[in-house]
Amino acid sequence: MDLKKLAARLIPDENLPSLEECEKAYPPRVLKEGAEVTRLAPSPTGFIHLGNLYSALADERTAHTTGGIFYLRIEDTDEKRKVDGAVESVIRSLKYFGINFDEGAEIEGENAYGPYYQRRRAPIYRAYAKDLLERGLAYPCFCTEEELDEIRRVQTENKEITGYYGKYAVWRDKSEEEIYAALDRGLPYVIRLRSQGDVNIKHAFRDAIKGSITVTENDQDVVILKSDGIPTYHFAHAIDDHFMRTTLVIRGEEWLSSLPIHIELFKVLGFSLPRYGHTCSLMKVDGGTKRKLSKRKDPELSLDFYRGAGYYPQAVIKYLMTILNSNFEEWSAKNLEKSYKEFPFSVSKMGKSGALFDLDKLNDVSRDELSKLSPEGMYEFLNGWVQEFGTDADRAHFKEREYIISILALIMGAGQKKRRKDIERAGQGVRLMDYFFDDIFAPAYSFRFDNDTVNAMLSAFAATYSEDDDNSAWFAKVKAAAAAAGFASENAEYKANPSAYKGNVSDAAEIVRIAITGSPNSPDLCTVMKILGRERSLARISAAKR
Ligand code: GLU
Repeated sequence: MDLKKLAARLIPDENLPSLEECEKAYPPRVLKEGAEVTRLAPSPTGFIHLGNLYSALADERTAHTTGGIFYLRIEDTDEKRKVDGAVESVIRSLKYFGINFDEGAEIEGENAYGPYYQRRRAPIYRAYAKDLLERGLAYPCFCTEEELDEIRRVQTENKEITGYYGKYAVWRDKSEEEIYAALDRGLPYVIRLRSQGDVNIKHAFRDAIKGSITVTENDQDVVILKSDGIPTYHFAHAIDDHFMRTTLVIRGEEWLSSLPIHIELFKVLGFSLPRYGHTCSLMKVDGGTKRKLSKRKDPELSLDFYRGAGYYPQAVIKYLMTILNSNFEEWSAKNLEKSYKEFPFSVSKMGKSGALFDLDKLNDVSRDELSKLSPEGMYEFLNGWVQEFGTDADRAHFKEREYIISILALIMGAGQKKRRKDIERAGQGVRLMDYFFDDIFAPAYSFRFDNDTVNAMLSAFAATYSEDDDNSAWFAKVKAAAAAAGFASENAEYKANPSAYKGNVSDAAEIVRIAITGSPNSPDLCTVMKILGRERSLARISAAKR
């Protein structure tokens, strides 16, 4: 068969680059010894998830701890799944978590290895597909969907491996006449690899994450160009990761089963194989069993969830680092002042199977990390969230920067030996301050005493309150008011004779607390009242009278 003639008929494109031109256009990168080139290669579906962030962090750390490059490639070969704005969303989401690309789609600067959108790289794929056709390593296949379904049905019935291989590869050895006849009839066709592999041969393979594994040779005549001339993931992966000079392909373990295809493709294309690291899936414990995080069931899979809820990005990263490298936690405890970027990250220390993601643990890390901020730092963080996700009232409140900072100093226990860890994420932290604002302070008073007792306590306390009192003077006045209202002013007195009193001093203080904050729990009430100011505090006390 005249393969050159057939290739020219199947891929008639003029002006395809020559293979030498491709190699020249994308020369090996000049980087220092050991530098890794990694990439994130999402499909632009608009859904960017925790798994992407997990992988991206491994990619980014690998590249940047070795002086290499981390780039963004958009795998947009599936037009149907494409969503507008998806690329910006990937970049914005990862940037929120402090992960930046050195080069790639929509990244400014020298984009020497682009274009980074696969759809814009069609001439390169087509040039290589044409070369494989000319070398007899690829061929056209005119099977219809129905024919392929029938093949699969027979294979399933016979309990054979499904796919297009061996005797099932019906177009593999068709004659020249049959091929040209199909072309003349204008039938749609795909281009398939003419696999040279043998499934009886196995090779030892070293995965950078999974370690030693065994890989069976590929014998599937996989599609390399679809009927619309667009490459499949397999073909585009081999060509792009070669020409973008990726040294380590970090990707989900769902691709492990396709590895034999990729090994063969790199071989027939004449490219040297990059290293691979297949990451394990993120799992969660659900009702006592472990399962994969699911898009449908688990809102925490979507990265938008973390931004919307106001998670502290550094906390999410820190927690993911503990999942990525099990010795990170210990390192981090010993190196409190250091950034995670100083940790000697290594893909070889990544877990080989199911990484457990636990939202409660993340929340703990988050409280911990946030407690280290200064009140000013906390203001900046919360304000960022408020501007994007807060209510109009929140935005108005956050204009009072100094007032909020004084509230935060109280809530966080700034200046105390042990910081409080009440703030878990912005969405929750902002709500902790609501009672400091009259326009939204709407308490449903839950007093545990009758109206007369409540009124007596509130009146007695209001009559003596002074803003200048320090904590102990303030408390002495609470005690005096408590005694006047029929409470024990000392706990010991109450304990000795409970029936003689309405309650103890803390019960009495609770009445004031509920009047001021609307809740029986609050940080130091004396300070709360100071922050609110005398006028507002007394107004709240009188409003709370029954
Ligand atoms: N586009 C593929 C995905 O979304 C990328 C896999 C890879 O990293 O090679 O899963």
